[in-house]
Amino acid sequence: AIEFPRPNHPVVMTFANQKGGVGKTTSAVNIAAALALGGLKVVVIDIDPQGNASTALGAEHREGTPSIYEVLLDGIPLASVLQQCPEIPNLRVAPATLDLSGAEVELVDVNQREFLLQRTLADFLRHEPEVDYVIIDCPPSLGMLTLNAFVAATDVTIPIQAEYYALEGLSSLLRAIERIKNALNSSLRISNILVTMYDSRTNLSREVVQEVRNHFPQQLLSTPIPRSVRLSEAPSYSQTGVTYDPRSTGALAYRKAALQIARRFSGGN
Ligand code: ADP
Ligand code: MG
Repeated sequence: AIEFPRPNHPVVMTFANQKGGVGKTTSAVNIAAALALGGLKVVVIDIDPQGNASTALGAEHREGTPSIYEVLLDGIPLASVLQQCPEIPNLRVAPATLDLSGAEVELVDVNQREFLLQRTLADFLRHEPEVDYVIIDCPPSLGMLTLNAFVAATDVTIPIQAEYYALEGLSSLLRAIERIKNALNSSLRISNILVTMYDSRTNLSREVVQEVRNHFPQQLLSTPIPRSVRLSEAPSYSQTGVTYDPRSTGALAYRKAALQIARRFSGGN
């Protein structure tokens, strides 16, 4: 197996886009899996009540399972809810259950509610400074859970689906990130943009890549993720694409993208 370079400091990377269905979860779990298979120590935090990342990573997430809900709302340590991913040695998951679906409302009268995830992560990384990547999978909204992710993160990866109106909604996401950066987390940066569900046969896909490159020449990852049935069927086997069918085009693309990310954060390119 290839050894990926380690980052200079623990990277807390949130996968965000307030549009649903653009490939946030698929990208978060496959990049996380690829980084872990590259030898890095990875923790995935699922903060989407749907729990799709938990499913793909084979984590138990029935209601009542100790999850990120208890971490945020009851203040129990993150380490106490982590589950080892059965397929991937270096990867642990903080699962999300449907209990989390009430959190947006329950958090309304909690003090310092924007900082809950940041605090718990700071505590966790003090105990486990050897963790290389913490990857956060966000729900498709700009609510309190996503805000917690932005406040806790050092870096944002934005998946963009190669579709009509691909960049629609992007400017409001960028404005939100800019406001959070100014008010709550000055170290936040948009580090990576990943084009998903790319179809090289269509002009549209190529145009989306070109447009994203015009706006974000530094951030755009050079490997777009192709549309691949193997990626979409993997979660029904409690797997990521990279473990379910390592030779599929989707798996190979995610491994390339993950290597590029690892190189960026290790000071390479
Ligand atoms: P989000 O988390 O942004 O809502 P998902 O990652 O759940 O998006 O993806 C939405 C749907 O598209 C899922 O059914 C997923 O399996 C499918 N999907 C995501 N990426 C790909 C891809 N590259 N090829 C084929 N299907 C994909
Ligand atoms: Mg999702």
